[in-house]
Amino acid sequence: MSVALRTLDDGAWISVNDTREVSVSELWRFPGGNFCSCDLSDVVVEGFVETGVDGRTVEVRAYGQCIACGAKATTDWLPVGRVVDGEFRDVDRESVLCPQVAPAATAAAHR
Ligand SMILES: [Zn+2]
Repeated sequence: MSVALRTLDDGAWISVNDTREVSVSELWRFPGGNFCSCDLSDVVVEGFVETGVDGRTVEVRAYGQCIACGAKATTDWLPVGRVVDGEFRDVDRESVLCPQVAPAATAAAHR
């Protein structure tokens, strides 16, 4: 099944199959050292740079700023949700996100 992914409003929204699903201004938390030099990076998402689908996993690269140290950067590819039976389902983005997709999750996505 193909998934129609678009960014809208200059990267402020991600549209999945013509429905706005993910917006900026979320607070994403990353383990230290990946985004900036903080032990735990609290990043306000300011824009989506790229979107893609890996199997059924919807991934994005996002631009944002760490609210602790002010560093601005673009993330690596991050899973933000999955498409199951044509419907978008969020992942829990308020817990700690790992910029690298875990091998187990990748294997499941390709099954
Ligand atoms: Zn920081």
